[in-house]
Amino acid sequence: MKLLEYESKQLFRAHRIPGPRSGGVITKMAQMPAALKRAGKAPWVIKAQVLAGGRGKAGGIKRALTPAEARSAAQSILGMTLVTHQTHGQGVKVREVLVEGGAKIEREFYLSVVMDRKAAGPTIIASAEGGMEIERLAAEKPEAILRQPVDPSLGLPDYAARRIGFQLGVPAQHLGEFCHIVKSLVRLFLGHDCSLVEVNPLALTPKGFVALDGKVVTDDNALFRHPELAKRKDAELSALEREAKRADLSYIALDGSIGCMVNGAGLAMGTMDTIALAGGRPANFLDVGGAANEERVTKAFQIILKDAKVKAVL
Ligand code: ADP
Ligand code: MG
Repeated sequence: MKLLEYESKQLFRAHRIPGPRSGGVITKMAQMPAALKRAGKAPWVIKAQVLAGGRGKAGGIKRALTPAEARSAAQSILGMTLVTHQTHGQGVKVREVLVEGGAKIEREFYLSVVMDRKAAGPTIIASAEGGMEIERLAAEKPEAILRQPVDPSLGLPDYAARRIGFQLGVPAQHLGEFCHIVKSLVRLFLGHDCSLVEVNPLALTPKGFVALDGKVVTDDNALFRHPELAKRKDAELSALEREAKRADLSYIALDGSIGCMVNGAGLAMGTMDTIALAGGRPANFLDVGGAANEERVTKAFQIILKDAKVKAVL
């Protein structure tokens, strides 16, 4: 399950990872004055809450110096359809914005804990060059990204946290804070059965480190251990994904043009790989299930064909 930025930041707060002062999430303009008050003095940042990264570049994040600017920023973001490099060619509608204090950024770091299947365990990924260009950095300068596997039964020892700080060139006076943040992220990751916990950027400001963005993905198979997460509604599945979920079909929309009708998750993955290998792009992942009957297959076809990008079905 993917958590929105503000939900991720709630978990950060519970783990004492410092963030900007939060004014909370609003859905209507009438809620703005109270939100600004909670967020403290200007500048403020108004942030679209959608389950996709790349919001900054797509116009979903705006700075405001006055209440009037904050209002017009929220007005332009609320209700907009945000298309980022992570929305698979479709847009997602913005229904809520987060209002928070604007930090004075001196440096932006990248820090995450991710499940590394090859290492069969969590791995910390960090870079001194965080921010909105992290994907490009990974492609063009992979040596600027460091990896540190974590033993899930031990967590992250102090010396390993310090070593990451040294390697990233964290100034000595901030090393203690940095180690606390890395260790807390690992604790959050392990404690909530996550597959990803990401802070990008982790900003160094005159007041120390601040997590300006947050992304948490938890493992659905472990939801039964986290009733507070299980209660949360699936905020932003696409309409088709929601329809599929109601029909108990395992469907994930993608950005290609070839619809896939497959039974068995492994075969579905294999089919997507085969399409890609042959130069095509799958429009979806779909596991119609081993025990599929006429009714389920019909429903699955209906869902696939409702996707306007689909030109053919394999
Ligand atoms: P996304 O990764 O979806 O683009 P971010 O939350 O990372 O969204 O915001 C994009 C950029 O906006 C950040 O890299 C940072 O430079 C800036 N930013 C975000 N939140 C704040 C904040 N509270 N104060 C100052 N700058 C911010
Ligand atoms: Mg970000």
